[in-house]
Amino acid sequence: MKKVLVLEDESSIRSFIVINLRRAGYEVIEAETGEEALEKLEHHRDTRVALLDVMLPGIDGFEVCRRIRAGNARIGIIMLTARTQEMDKVTGLMTGADDYVTKPFSPAELTARVDALMRRSGGSDVSEGEIRQDPFLLNTRNRTLEKDGQRIKLTQVEYAIIKMFMENPGKALSREEILDTVWGRDYFGELKIVDVNIRRLRLKIEDNPTNPTYITTVWGFGYKWGF
Ligand code: CA
Repeated sequence: MKKVLVLEDESSIRSFIVINLRRAGYEVIEAETGEEALEKLEHHRDTRVALLDVMLPGIDGFEVCRRIRAGNARIGIIMLTARTQEMDKVTGLMTGADDYVTKPFSPAELTARVDALMRRSGGSDVSEGEIRQDPFLLNTRNRTLEKDGQRIKLTQVEYAIIKMFMENPGKALSREEILDTVWGRDYFGELKIVDVNIRRLRLKIEDNPTNPTYITTVWGFGYKWGF
């Protein structure tokens, strides 16, 4: 069963989300506070996607995200943000979330976002083996990346991006192309999410993230792996 955790303190919004996800075939675990969410995830370690509201009594959604991510790189995390929290979206993504949804959202939009992350966290990689491009080694069997022999912890979205780059060395990839490949064609999100994930990826893999040499920017178009 595909398991999703929903953390939302407002019961009407939580019910709306839960009903729609169950209708879409998901098993849903509910939590009202951040503390409750962390505790439930301990008992449901096979949870594949977590939806986290930002504004909560007690610890906020960003802190919950940070704590989940500290122990689990594979789970997909979507932040639920209000329109007035525009700046928080980037903060949330930098703390380790894969995506965000702005309230109010439609059931179709929400389900599409969860479906997209579910595909990413499913581990259904058809290609097998290793891609070696010094100093990197990407293992597509266990979905890991090493740089100079050191394991780099990646989220599923980050892994999908780096895999796309390493399969297309030296090729300029448009932001639209990356969004389509990594998040899926039926994705409702904005191109900005590509940039934020790449910024985070650079922090992890570049020798000097402010002067990237592995993921280079192709101005007005997208990104390229190498020069
Ligand atoms: Ca709230």
